[in-house]
This record gives sequence, structure tokens and C-alpha cells, in this order.
Amino acid sequence: MNRQLRVAVIGAGPAGIYASDILTKSDVDVSVDIIERNPTPFGLIRYGVAPDHPRIKEIVKALKRVLSQDDIRFFGNVDYGTDLKLDDLQQFYDAVIFATGAHKDRQIQIPGIDLRGSYGAADFVSWYNGHPDVHTEWPLEAESVAVLGAGNVALDVARMLAKTADELLFTEIPDNVYRGIKANRAQDVHLFARRGPAQVKFTPMELRELGHSPNIDVIVHPEGFDLDEGSMDSICASKSVKLVVDTLQNYIAKDATGAAHRIHIHFCQSPVEVLGEDGQVVGLRTERTELDGTGNACGTGEFTDWPVQSVYRAIGYLSDNLAGLPFDATTGVVPNDGGRVIDIDGEPLPGAYVTGWIKRGPIGLIGHTKSDAAQTIDMFLSDLDALVAPEQPEVGAVDRYLDSRGIAFTTWEGWKKLDAHEILRGESQGRERVKVVARDDMVRISNA
Ligand code: NAP
Repeated sequence: MNRQLRVAVIGAGPAGIYASDILTKSDVDVSVDIIERNPTPFGLIRYGVAPDHPRIKEIVKALKRVLSQDDIRFFGNVDYGTDLKLDDLQQFYDAVIFATGAHKDRQIQIPGIDLRGSYGAADFVSWYNGHPDVHTEWPLEAESVAVLGAGNVALDVARMLAKTADELLFTEIPDNVYRGIKANRAQDVHLFARRGPAQVKFTPMELRELGHSPNIDVIVHPEGFDLDEGSMDSICASKSVKLVVDTLQNYIAKDATGAAHRIHIHFCQSPVEVLGEDGQVVGLRTERTELDGTGNACGTGEFTDWPVQSVYRAIGYLSDNLAGLPFDATTGVVPNDGGRVIDIDGEPLPGAYVTGWIKRGPIGLIGHTKSDAAQTIDMFLSDLDALVAPEQPEVGAVDRYLDSRGIAFTTWEGWKKLDAHEILRGESQGRERVKVVARDDMVRISNA
């Protein structure tokens, strides 16, 4: 080919940025446009990682270096499917790599889940991270709260519900979130795992960290703390499982300090109903389960009602169905072969690729996204001869198209302005940064 290849990457989270980096470092002459529906880059790092996890947010430094490259451009505030459809992209690019992640909550089909006071973790995470698309107010009136699920998101939610606003003040939380958490009345946060301690999805470091706050007692309830033969096998087979179980046992052995807030962890309790009165959550009913020796658990018919006024389900994320692409609603991914999008007959869709959670489902830590992106880029590079050339491959064609449609897109230069603005806001309060929340404000500051 005697011209530069043009590739669009949809999604400026770690998955999209890693894919762009690997692609531009390959042997082909290529330039990449990253298209993102938020006005800002960094996806889950900015809007998913909890604000009291600055160590994980450090990944941004490496992502910034990638976005500073001349052969990569950033187009924020551009919504795939609305502002740019697949047909539009095919006019400008040789290929499109979708890295849109997973933003919604997986549903749980139990009665009462739609009551007032019942929330999805994804929405709460978006709120405390200052996502522009969620309400700035969050009602935190419940004194006792249930968190469903035993993964790292459940730990994040439980911790954010139990920490004090002043503990979080050193972080980048926006002002509205500080005020919301200041008014939080939660004293007891009950986290329910439907299986046993060796089956939880916590990672050891995140579980240990739960106990680091002087304002929180972590209370692991011994009922249901079953380590059957299958559990012992898991402990022997995995260092991480052993560390998690050890940490939980340490919590059991530890005396409560009388801290103002408590996180209770309950095992072998499966949620069966959210109880309500006048449309509002007043409790959670769980069924005790028993491990069956294979790692699975089955119900015992023994039920417990827990008086809680709020329920947060943290039972996994779900990806959005992307316009113009096939979608497997059961697994929540775009069907693909190593990153190459395939239709229901298994035939490849020319020029369409996926990477990250939209490719393999919402599991795994951020680091896993790198190897995933490498596989997708390998697949793309092996398909070069089969790509269909776009009608308008010149750099600048997409800018003109967006301008002609009046879409106020943001750029990498614009992000640098917003970044500086947030850092400056933080400086006056002795904090690293204070996030801007409203989409219009972000766009205005970026494009000033
Ligand atoms: P996850 O790790 O898959 O955990 C989901 C939890 O929900 C599991 O305990 C699961 O139990 C439970 N669950 C599923 N369906 C349920 C139901 N119907 N009733 C009751 N419980 C149910 O998902 P996640 O917590 O959303 O995390 C997603 C990924 O992001 C993970 O890889 C996680 O490690 C990562 N992450 C990392 C951090 C960090 O700080 N490092 C923070 C947040 C997220 P079963 O196992 O029984 O299905």
C-alpha cells in the first residue's frame, strides 16, 4: 500500500490506548484516531477505579505518553452509534477496533430489585468518580446497607460506603461527592457472598486494604465460613486463593475496635428478594447455601431477613450492545475470533476488531488488557490484505465531518487544558486535583 493506513479505535480506556500503542509501534505505517464518548480520555481509570486507589490511577502516566504520540489523535465527546456510525467510520478508516469496555450492571432477577433504594454498583461507582452522565446527588440515607456479590467492585462499593468523607478528601473526588459522602448515614455495610471463602473473587491486596481505615471494623462472620474438600483443593492450587482465605481468617481472629463503621462479610448467603414497604427497600432476604464439593453451592431452603434500607448489586458489569455489530447477550461480548469480529455464522466482518472487556467479558485486572490488545493487533496485521480501502483516508476528513455536523469534539490538547484546570482547582485545597463533573464544563474548558 502506498499510503498510510488509517485506524479508528473506539474507546479511550486502557484497552483502546494499549491497542493504539501496540499498533503504532508495529512495522506498518499507520495513524490512529481514538474516538471516545466522554470528553476525557482514560476510561475506567478516571471513572471506574476508586478514588482512594491512587496507585492504580498512576497507570495514567503511561497512557499519557501513548496519547502524546504524533501518530495518535484523541477525539473526545464523540458518541459511537450517534455522532459516528459504523458506515461513517468505514468512509474514513481501513479498520475500526472497538474497546468500549463494560459500563452497565449485570441484572439480577429477584423480586424487589427495582425498589427505591436498590442500586447498581456501576451507577454508584460512576457517581463517586464524577462521571458526567450520572446525577450529581446520591441519596446516602440508609444506616444499614447490603452489597451483593463478592468481587473487587463489591469491595470498592463497601469501602466507599464505610469510609468518611474526610478520609477521602485527599483524593480527586469532586465537591458534590465529598458533600454526598459527608451526609452518608451508613454505619453497617453487609457484603453477601453466595458461595464460600475460597470461592470469592476478591484479590488479596484489595481485601487486606479494607482493614486499613481507622474508621472501619471488618467483621467476617464465621457462619457459612465453610472450607470443604473442593475449597481445600482451590487453596492448594492457588496462592491468591490461599492469601484471600488467610486474610479472611485474620479478620475473624481480630477483635472489633469499636470503629464507627462496620463492614460485615457473610458467606454462603444467596440473595433471593429485596424486601420493600411503600416502594422503598426495608430489607434483604437471603437463602443459606451449602457448598457441594465442586466449588458450586446450592440452596438449603433456610432464609434470613436482613433489615437494610439500601441494596447495591455488585454482581458484575455488562457491555453495551454496539450499533452495527453482532452481540452475544448471554456472555455480553461481541462475538470474535481472537479479536476479529465474526457474525453469527462465524464469518469475519471485514475491518472490525474488538479488544478489552467488550472482547472477553468484564473480568481481569487492567494489566491483562495489554496481552489482549497484542492478540487483537496480531489478528489485524494478519488481515491487512483483506481490508477494504476507505473513500476518504486523508487525515482531517473525519474532523471536517464532525465539524460539519456541529459536534463539539475535544482533543488531546484540550485534555491538557482540562487536566491543568483540575490540578489548579486541587492546589487551592492542598489536593492533587479536583475533578470537573459536568460534560458542558469539561467541553468548554477543553475547547477554550
Ligand atoms: P467479579 O469479580 O466477576 O465478581 C462478581 C461477584 O458477583 C462474584 O462474587 C459472583 O459470585 C457474584 N454474583 C454474580 N451473580 C450473582 C448473583 N446472582 N447473586 C449473588 N452474587 C452474584 O466482578 P466485579 O467485582 O464486577 O469485577 C470485575 C473485574 O474488575 C474483576 O476482574 C475485578 O478484579 C476487577 N476490579 C479490580 C479492582 C481493583 O481494585 N484491583 C477494582 C474493581 C474491579 P460467583 O462467583 O458465585 O458467581
